[in-house]
Amino acid sequence: MGALIKPWQHGPVADLDFAGALVYAIPLRTRFRGITVREGMLIEGPAGWGEFCPFADYDDAESVPWLQAAVEQATLPPPAPVRDLIPVNCTVPAVGPERAHEIVAASGCTTAKVKVADHADSLAEDLARVEAVRAALGAAGRVRVDANAVWDVDTAVRSLRLLDRAAGGLEYAEQPCRTLEELAAVRRAVDVPIAADESIRRADDPLRVAVAGAADVAVIKGTPLGGVRRALRVAEAAGLPCVVSSALETSVGLAGQLALAGALPELPYACGLGTLSLFTGDVVADGAGLRPLGGSLPVPAAPPSPDPPKLAEFRLTDAKREQWWRDRLSRVRALASV
Ligand SMILES: [Mg+2]
Repeated sequence: MGALIKPWQHGPVADLDFAGALVYAIPLRTRFRGITVREGMLIEGPAGWGEFCPFADYDDAESVPWLQAAVEQATLPPPAPVRDLIPVNCTVPAVGPERAHEIVAASGCTTAKVKVADHADSLAEDLARVEAVRAALGAAGRVRVDANAVWDVDTAVRSLRLLDRAAGGLEYAEQPCRTLEELAAVRRAVDVPIAADESIRRADDPLRVAVAGAADVAVIKGTPLGGVRRALRVAEAAGLPCVVSSALETSVGLAGQLALAGALPELPYACGLGTLSLFTGDVVADGAGLRPLGGSLPVPAAPPSPDPPKLAEFRLTDAKREQWWRDRLSRVRALASV
């Protein structure tokens, strides 16, 4: 586990208010990643608020970098940005073509990420969805697909050729297969650029992932990677153009992801940070929420603070569940030595 834990950076931790950490529960608009309610904790420190929100199926060791990301944000100011506006993509879940068209048209985004391979024999539905998304975006828009590592090489090659044609050209395909070897084989066989996501995030040591040859693009998620500064090192080690993607944080955690996108030396693609639209609410005041406008988001100077009325609305009320979060935080703190 040593490689997962170091290196990361933080300021003085003595003033972190772990005892006063707030637990939130916000219902999602549609089921996503198997969950219908997003839960997490907000922790205040000398540099502002951080968010600790590993999904419930992550064990304590896997949750360590999530805590490191929260501690970094609450104790250190964000790195100096090199840009102040981040273009974002809209996300199209496994819905029918009419709904897909509506989602894209309503988003104001010129790039759409389309979920494919959601279930067995989904190809006909995937093709119809991608065609509808292209129609909604027009010729100048960009269409990317995400298969979340479920295809074998042959299925990926066959599906991507057809999806590329249906989309009138795909920008890239995210994690078509599970392993780096499989990604490399697919990449050799198709003209569609390949992006690595799970390969980087779930690697034992993301600083050592040799994605060269297996991918054209690296998807970087700062929260599961242990914070903005560590994610910048992972991006550098990957040696590829990067796309910053959220881990379904509230506006507090999203601020850190925007800081990361703002600090990357190059940012040639739209980022996956418009994810607040999946939530029914937020922990910060309406005006302070990080919802995209006209297809982009600003890089905030500091993380926004929770708003008391919003916290009252979205505070986790189940006492047992709240204790589960507090116990989890204690165990992960012990592992992370904070
Ligand atoms: Mg992905």
